[in-house]
Amino acid sequence: MFETHDPRFGTYVLFNAPLKKLAQGFDWAEGPVWMGDANCLLFSDIPNNRIMRWSPDLGLSVYRAPSNFSNGHTRDRQGRLVSCEHGGRRVTRTEWDGTVTVLADGYMGKPLNSPNDVVVKSDGSIWFTDPHYGIMTNYEGYKSAQELPCNVYRIDPDGRLEAVLTDFNCPNGLCFSPDEQRLYVADTGRVFHKDAQHIRVFDMGSGRPKGGAVFHVIGAGCADGIRVDDEGNVWSSAGDGVHCIAPDGTLLGKILVPEIVSNICFGGRGKQMLFITATTSLYAISLNRIGAQWP
Ligand code: MG
Repeated sequence: MFETHDPRFGTYVLFNAPLKKLAQGFDWAEGPVWMGDANCLLFSDIPNNRIMRWSPDLGLSVYRAPSNFSNGHTRDRQGRLVSCEHGGRRVTRTEWDGTVTVLADGYMGKPLNSPNDVVVKSDGSIWFTDPHYGIMTNYEGYKSAQELPCNVYRIDPDGRLEAVLTDFNCPNGLCFSPDEQRLYVADTGRVFHKDAQHIRVFDMGSGRPKGGAVFHVIGAGCADGIRVDDEGNVWSSAGDGVHCIAPDGTLLGKILVPEIVSNICFGGRGKQMLFITATTSLYAISLNRIGAQWP
């Protein structure tokens, strides 16, 4: 179940903690977000146009359908659900009363492609990736013409939208280091460019991303969703499971998963459980790590 590449990894995993399949029957599970106050996980089943909810006491149910082919989710600093929608080609926020507010749906007068994944910084700014996966076919959205490059955007707390990274093939998962001095962004554009199956790292010292060197090349499949633990290790989805990568880019080890992993998030009591969306199933495994993501 584990593949150890560095002794540190042996202290991060629990060798008597099983990889549990919590639910199955999805077509492409994605976008997990832990809602600790409701003791549940929300995640997308993109091709089936629904957001699912899994809770340890109640099991599986549908949270929202149709979901506008939602993909990645996170929560803002007020705990509200922030979602990427392929179908709506937009990023939305679900308010406390259940109404949905559009945060971004176009740039320079053109519609976004299909927002994929999203993260919120402690200053309240919302950062999301906008590859074209959701408009390439009718499988995960509505086949449509692409009018914008595949950029990374930042939504200011005042609502202004800014393209902050414009040199990606297909930006996908993204996360900040625990001290927010780094921004990691995965590029999954290998279908279109042979080199693009890596995670890049940007220096956030100035408040805007600088640099962008390749941080780690994923050896199996792609880095789709990524998260960091509280010591700054990067946990990445991959074709053969979940990879753990040290802050210097060294592969420390792998959690082997029997399906292609799309995304991950920390949650559960103490944020020590890693939830894994993997093709048709939802998995979870307890780790000796604590997720650094907000909340
Ligand atoms: Mg993704």
